[in-house]
Parts: sequence; structure tokens; C-alpha cells
Amino acid sequence: MSRAVDVAVIGGGLLGLATARALLRARPDLSVTVLEKEARWGAHQSGHNSNVIHSGLYYAPGSLKARLARAGGEEMIRYCEQHEVPVKRTGKLVVATSSAQLPGLDALAERGRANGVTVRRLSRAEFAEREPHVAGVAALSVADTAMTDFAQVCRALAAELTGLGAELRLDSPALSFTAAGDRTVIATPGEELRARTLVNCAGLHSDKIAAAAGDRPSVRIMPFRGEYAEIRPGRRGLVNNPVYPVPDPELPFLGVHITPMLDGSVHVGPNAVPALARQGYRWRDVDPRMMAELLRDPALRHLARRFWRHGVTEISRSLFWPLFVRDVRRLVPEIESRDMRRHGSGVRAQAVTADGRLVDDFVISRTPRAVHVLNAPSPAATSSLRIGSRIAADVFEQLGLDVAAA
Ligand SMILES: Cc1cc2nc3c(=O)[nH]c(=O)nc-3n(C[C@H](O)[C@H](O)[C@H](O)COP(=O)(O)OP(=O)(O)OC[C@H]3O[C@@H](n4cnc5c(N)ncnc54)[C@H](O)[C@@H]3O)c2cc1C
Repeated sequence: MSRAVDVAVIGGGLLGLATARALLRARPDLSVTVLEKEARWGAHQSGHNSNVIHSGLYYAPGSLKARLARAGGEEMIRYCEQHEVPVKRTGKLVVATSSAQLPGLDALAERGRANGVTVRRLSRAEFAEREPHVAGVAALSVADTAMTDFAQVCRALAAELTGLGAELRLDSPALSFTAAGDRTVIATPGEELRARTLVNCAGLHSDKIAAAAGDRPSVRIMPFRGEYAEIRPGRRGLVNNPVYPVPDPELPFLGVHITPMLDGSVHVGPNAVPALARQGYRWRDVDPRMMAELLRDPALRHLARRFWRHGVTEISRSLFWPLFVRDVRRLVPEIESRDMRRHGSGVRAQAVTADGRLVDDFVISRTPRAVHVLNAPSPAATSSLRIGSRIAADVFEQLGLDVAAA
């Protein structure tokens, strides 16, 4: 069967679903189909993350991340409240564990303020009162952080999309792309779509989809797994707030943090280790084809040269539990190995340039008939509704639609 659609969205994670929502809310007359290869919405990054609605503290002022996180976070909180998805403004603490980290803490406070985030340096007594079991010489309190359940957000978006008239297809991988006149023909196992515009929100596979659709993506996706541990129920009281270390500005996603979740569990992590498959949730998940491709890619060699020390540390901590425990004890000295157990993982789709740089900001590229999301790491879940609106604006322009008049 072959069907003509205005927009085909590849990927039923937060970004694909949010984009379809933004399209149909502005232009209910459009025909929009969302293709998801898995049997459920949010099966990858959107359903395997820390569930934090970030404040916008860390990001370079003026970057897309900074612009979309602050406003996007507030929009996400409102969305959760309106759609009966659990959400709670928890705030968070960023803790310096040595005086050498104090300049980093001050720089972070300054950056947060530049991004419109409410931050306050806590006195030692205030900090000790809020976190009696956490070691630190100083802490920042960040008011605008919240917790939710992004897998539930995905389900709420899918339900809303049904009401808005979207065609939603689970178990429907986009298999191939062929240009045909002013349309792109997308083959799936069940049908063929002839789309005026293609929106690629395929996360870990987005570079491959972009290439298959005829683009030459400027970056490649490298999968980095983030592994979690959880604190056993009897010891959850050791931490009351989400607690983060002072980040390394070059590698902000590193550094073990501790997050009390909405269901009462307390998660530790995620770390960042290379995944050996795009959906490599465990060390034993290995994709020999991807590995062979990566090993031939000079970007990997550049990356390894630049970050080998961090890589060795992260991999060692992943493989040797006592090293992981030792790191957590820097923040929570009373915690013992038996107080924690391993607890799942997620895989980040991280864009890397040809010369081995990790791309920090979101990357959304446009061709005449497609929009490709080529880098949407954290806080893209936080900002997903905003990113969806931005992509929708690009699509309207491509389709020559005047949305203000719609
Ligand atoms: C460990 C971890 C912790 C994180 N913590 C946070 C956090 O606390 N807060 C935050 O804001 N962000 C966080 N993030 C980032 C956030 O999860 C992602 O930025 C966000 O989920 C990206 O959404 P997405 O829709 O782009 O990707 P995904 O959710 O990965 O969706 C892509 C979808 O495309 C589908 N797909 C791929 N190929 C095809 C195909 N050929 N045909 C059809 N479908 C296809 C996949 O199956 C997948 O469902 C975290 C990420 C990780 C991994």
C-alpha cells in the first residue's frame, strides 16, 4: 500500500512525538505519520534517562541548549501537570568536595544566572542541614530543577496525538528512502509513505537515516552508555535532594550524581562508557559492523587521543565495582558497597565531528525536503516540546505554509 502524507516523522521518542504535536496543533489540516521501529513509544533514550527536568544551569549562554532548556523546562512542567504525568519541583544541589572546585562552583553560579536560573550559594550550616550525610566544602542550591517520568510523557504525547489526528505506527521501521519528484518515498514493512517532508528524530540512528535519505551529515553518532546503580531501600535516607558534583566544563556529562526519583528510589549515575552497539545497554551487546565502521573512522582515533584518560577511568569504574563505590563515597562517605546495586542503563546518541570533538549543542540540519536532528543529548528531554516547535517551524517553511495565518 502506498500513502501520500505531508510529513513523515521517523522516531517515536520525545522529539519525534513533540514535533508531530507541534505540527498538528498549529496546522490540524496536515497529514502527519510517526514511524517508530519498536513496539512502544520512548523505547530508547526517552525511556532510559534520569528523568530530570533540567534548569539550564550548565549551558553556554546563547547556545540552543541554554535558550531551549530554561523555557522548555517550564513548558514541560506545565505539560506534565496538565496531562496527569507525575512531576515535582525538587531543586538540586551542586556540591564542591574540595576547595580546588570552588572556582568551578562560582563559574557555574555565574553561568546559571546568565541563563536566568535561580541559584544560591548555601552556607555550610544550611548545606549540612539539608544533606547531613553528603560531604562538601560548599554547595549551590538550584531552584528550577524538577523530576518527572519521561516514558509517561511519551505515552501522554502519543495519546494526545491520536486526538489530533496523527497516524501513529509502532513496529514500523523506516527501511529505505527514495526521491520521487517532490516527495520522498519511505518504505516500511507494512506500507510505503510518499512524504512532502521528512523529519528525522531517530536518535541513535539519526546519522544513518540522514545518510540514507540523501544528506551528508557533518557529524557521526557515537553511542555512550550511562549506567546506573540504585541505593537499597533502607539507606535511601542518606541523600534528600538531587546532588551533583561540580562538572568538568569539557565533559559536563561526567561525574556521578545521586537522584531521588519520584517513586522513592534513589539512583546513582549515570557514568559514560563507550557502547559497543547503538543499542548497547550492556557490555555484552556488541555490533561487529558498527565496531568495524568506528574503528576505521579517524574521528574515533582523534577522540581517543583527546579523552583516553577519562575513558580509562570511566571504563574501569564500570567494570570494577569497588572503584565506582569509592567515587560515590567522595560525596557520601558513609555509603558502603552493600548499600547499592546496579540498576539498568541508557545509551546517549552523542554527535562527534570528523576531528573527534564531542558536539555540545543541539544540531538540527535542514535540506530542501527534510529536517534531521543530529545531536539531541541532555537536556533534550527537558526541552523536547520547545525543540518540537522549532522543528515544526522549519517544516512549515519548507512546505510554504504561513502558520501565523493558520
Ligand atoms: C543515560 C541518559 C540520561 C539522560 N538524562 C536526561 C535527563 O535527566 N534530562 C534530560 O533532559 N535529558 C536526559 N537525557 C537525554 C534525553 O533522554 C534525550 O536527549 C532525549 O530522550 C532524546 O529524544 P529523541 O526523541 O531524540 O531520541 P530517542 O528517545 O532515542 O528516540 C529515537 C527513536 O527513533 C526510533 N528509530 C530509530 N531508527 C528508526 C527507524 N529506522 N524507523 C523508525 N524508528 C526509528 C528509535 O527506536 C527511538 O525510539 C539522558 C539520556 C541518557 C541516555
